[in-house]
Amino acid sequence: MRIANLADRLVILVSRGSGDSQSSHDLAVDVEKASGGKFAADPQSIYHRWEDFVGWASTAELPTGEAFDPADLGSPAPTPRQVLAIGLNYRAHAAESGFAAPTGEPPVFTKFSSCIVGPYAEVTLPPGGHTDWEVELVAVVGRRAFQVSAQDALQHVAGYAVGQDISERTLQMAATPPQFSLGKSLPGFGPVGPWLTTLDELEDPNDLWLRCAIDGQQVQSSRTSELIYSVPELVAKLSASIPLLPGDVIFTGTPSGVGLGQSPQRWLQPGEELVSSIEGLGELRNRFVAAS
Ligand code: ZN
Repeated sequence: MRIANLADRLVILVSRGSGDSQSSHDLAVDVEKASGGKFAADPQSIYHRWEDFVGWASTAELPTGEAFDPADLGSPAPTPRQVLAIGLNYRAHAAESGFAAPTGEPPVFTKFSSCIVGPYAEVTLPPGGHTDWEVELVAVVGRRAFQVSAQDALQHVAGYAVGQDISERTLQMAATPPQFSLGKSLPGFGPVGPWLTTLDELEDPNDLWLRCAIDGQQVQSSRTSELIYSVPELVAKLSASIPLLPGDVIFTGTPSGVGLGQSPQRWLQPGEELVSSIEGLGELRNRFVAAS
């Protein structure tokens, strides 16, 4: 199943025709209307009733659905209570960042939830900044997880989406020691989408091709099988310390190819379009504009 946030209303996406997952071929079924009010329209609230919802959706006779404009899609988890993010979770990215790959515990930081935007959001570049890109697999929590094992972890995950951990490097590194969270939480710095895909839709949820391109030039390309800490391991490690709550968002780390690691270093410029995609999950298209 794929669910989406269409103009702040929860929808189920249904492929029209040949199983093509392009949004232009999808139809949207409004969940509140189709369920006769059993489930609310607010996309974030569905994670509190995730198992009920999945049960209903698997047996309900859904209407055909309606065509929609992909530009109206918001984040499938627009207002999470917690947004956790992992640093240095691919070896080649740790190397390009000048760090040894983590052993033991993964580096964890937060993106404040006000940065979460939809898959086609326009993002304002801060003046004088060094704004960088980081395509990432995002997991959304579907069931409260506290001190769960890696073996049980995926039972607590509602699904996956594409994320961009946009990062203002000057601000990220400004404090001593560096404090990542503000530089990674500026307005629009957390695009997530284009929808949420449940794991049963994926042939191998542990091995997905993820990549990103700027104005058609590919800058990142890797596979989630290269993650140092897999999603089950991350859920186990994070939930060992804090409860993960329904609707929480986990950014799992970026592969190599960020602007910070290039020589010379390269930053996003006004007018550029960043396309971030993950096999089976769709793509984000975010254009950058100068601060006015
Ligand atoms: Zn990141």
